[in-house]
Amino acid sequence: TKIAHELAAAIRSIPDYPKPGIIFRDITTLLGDARAFRRAVDELVQPYVGLKVDKIAGMEARGFILGGAVAHQLSAGFVPIRKKGKLPHETVRIAYSLEYGVDEMEIHMDAVKPGEKVILVDDLIATGGTAVGAVQLLRQIGADVVSACFVIDLPELGGRKKLEALGVEVRTLVEFE
Ligand code: IMP
Repeated sequence: TKIAHELAAAIRSIPDYPKPGIIFRDITTLLGDARAFRRAVDELVQPYVGLKVDKIAGMEARGFILGGAVAHQLSAGFVPIRKKGKLPHETVRIAYSLEYGVDEMEIHMDAVKPGEKVILVDDLIATGGTAVGAVQLLRQIGADVVSACFVIDLPELGGRKKLEALGVEVRTLVEFE
């Protein structure tokens, strides 16, 4: 679509970052482009307008930028999911798989009330390890994770299918190989 092309054109591709053979999709150029940033947030929000959404959950760190904007536009609350050791109150922690190795992330135990409807937001889904961990954390504290949305999908890495297998609807705006 025209909008997908416009957003793709605003995303910078950096070869061999963070390691040789990887093309890093850098959204800082999209965020810095007022029109593209608004477009991206509008497109992320549009499917959810008129639905009951209590909270947006965003993954550190780019998920905070996009998720904060989406939450504001939907008049929903915002819940940060952070790398371990950053959240000050009682947390639930989960290990999640990265392309190489594992890491841990956390959410505040009282960040959602049981049954609240939550949408997960991040910039990009690759293998899905991060998003699957986030869904598991949200479910552990009683959230009803209704959907997950991302600006960028790398479909060859299979993340969308992993999330859908957990029963989470997935929406993405731009695909890269
Ligand atoms: P996954 O867990 O393999 O799906 O990787 C997705 C996570 O890694 C997200 O939090 C992304 O922000 C980050 N990530 C992986 N590859 C890229 C990239 O090319 N550009 C920006 N972020 C990336």
